[in-house]
Amino acid sequence: MANQKYIIGNWKMNGSLNSKGLVSEIDDFCRSKLGDKVAVGICPPFPLIGLVNEWSWESPINIGAQDCHFKESGAHTGDVSAVLLKEIGAKIVIIGHSERRSNHGETSQLVCDKAKAALLAGLKPVICVGETDEERKSGNAIKVVLNQIEQSCPAENANIIVAYEPVWAIGTGNVASPQDILEMHNEIRAKLIEIYGHDGKKIQILYGGSVNAKNAEEILQTQNVDGALVGGASLKAPDFIAIIDAAINVSN
Ligand code: PEP
Repeated sequence: MANQKYIIGNWKMNGSLNSKGLVSEIDDFCRSKLGDKVAVGICPPFPLIGLVNEWSWESPINIGAQDCHFKESGAHTGDVSAVLLKEIGAKIVIIGHSERRSNHGETSQLVCDKAKAALLAGLKPVICVGETDEERKSGNAIKVVLNQIEQSCPAENANIIVAYEPVWAIGTGNVASPQDILEMHNEIRAKLIEIYGHDGKKIQILYGGSVNAKNAEEILQTQNVDGALVGGASLKAPDFIAIIDAAINVSN
């Protein structure tokens, strides 16, 4: 179990120039309540990263991206390098989200290369793993996720965050049961210790998949759950703030 809980909002392809109010509300809450036991991140689409950074200037909120390329620069039309993300104020970057794995055919090997590029640029990669509904129903969830961890996490650098996001729980309202989350997070922890030794104990393992204001506290109390990666509920200030507040409550 890591010492600090991390709540990260993944805006996906949402947000606009009108999102200042959302950011300001979250920022006001974080400035007055956050303390050092909980960290908060917001990952908007690429064009908003610099703006969200400005809107929350000198805030405790860490701004991040939802993807990066594995190279520093070059002929990669439409891609964005980790180096540039760092330059415009990003601190974290989500890598290997299931929507990128399925919509863009990203393999765990590519995810690992992107995580290495992020680390080299000074960003903390949030490496996503998770099984499909079919894989869970066929009894292969743990095997699939541990394979993804082995292939997606750069073995030489433990300065990463892992997000366990069962694909069937993302954006569906079907949150995983506390027992399933506990079992998977314990398995992931054991695998991280196998890969990184003692450092594997400190890596934050987040849960993601239909986390909301109502279920956050129970999930965040679970052993080896060191935070949450939040999609839909991160777009509504009261809901995201309630999730951050739940993390503060369980940390006290
Ligand atoms: C996500 O996009 O990573 C996610 C977990 O989405 P949601 O919270 O909407 O299920």
